[in-house]
Amino acid sequence: MHRRDQLRASKIMRDRAFANDKIDFRWNSVVEEVLGDGKVAGVRLRDVSSGELSDLPVSGVFVAIGHAPNTDVFRGQIDMDENGYIDTHDGTRTNVEGVFAAGDVQDHIYRQAITAAGSGCMAAIDAERWLESQPKTPTNW
Ligand SMILES: Cc1cc2nc3c(=O)[nH]c(=O)nc-3n(C[C@H](O)[C@H](O)[C@H](O)COP(=O)(O)OP(=O)(O)OC[C@H]3O[C@@H](n4cnc5c(N)ncnc54)[C@H](O)[C@@H]3O)c2cc1C
Repeated sequence: MHRRDQLRASKIMRDRAFANDKIDFRWNSVVEEVLGDGKVAGVRLRDVSSGELSDLPVSGVFVAIGHAPNTDVFRGQIDMDENGYIDTHDGTRTNVEGVFAAGDVQDHIYRQAITAAGSGCMAAIDAERWLESQPKTPTNW
């Protein structure tokens, strides 16, 4: 089910999905309701252009709608952009001293495993250096 009349994914991903005969596309459709009593028996769809409702029998439902960084827990504490991606500067630093961000929560461009792992390594080094730079006090040594 897709709420628009075309996919925004990259061409190579679109072509792979279209070539897969196990995938049927329902364009301009949103799920209004999951049907079934105790277990999934179908979904009620609404055509976003006509408003028409229809039921489609299915035995499972998987929800996947774009990307949303899971950063709500930090809202109001760490600076982020209007889409919830954490702002970083000078490597992985955030606006909060001693707090570093890595991976998809701060990357709205690449969002890949390899870039997340790389920035995770950067954050570990930044955090270790920051800890090293802290003066020793009776509470932290
Ligand atoms: C369908 C799909 C296909 C993909 N295919 C590829 C691919 O082919 N190649 C590629 O390079 N990348 C791919 N990616 C992207 C890749 O998975 C991500 O870029 C990468 O996993 C980001 O790593 P991360 O550590 O930043 O975040 P995540 O891997 O999302 O890890 C975040 C972790 O934090 C945990 N967490 C969340 N909230 C809390 C909380 N409040 N307290 C404690 N823990 C919490 C989560 O459970 C999760 O384990 C794909 C992603 C998706 C969704």
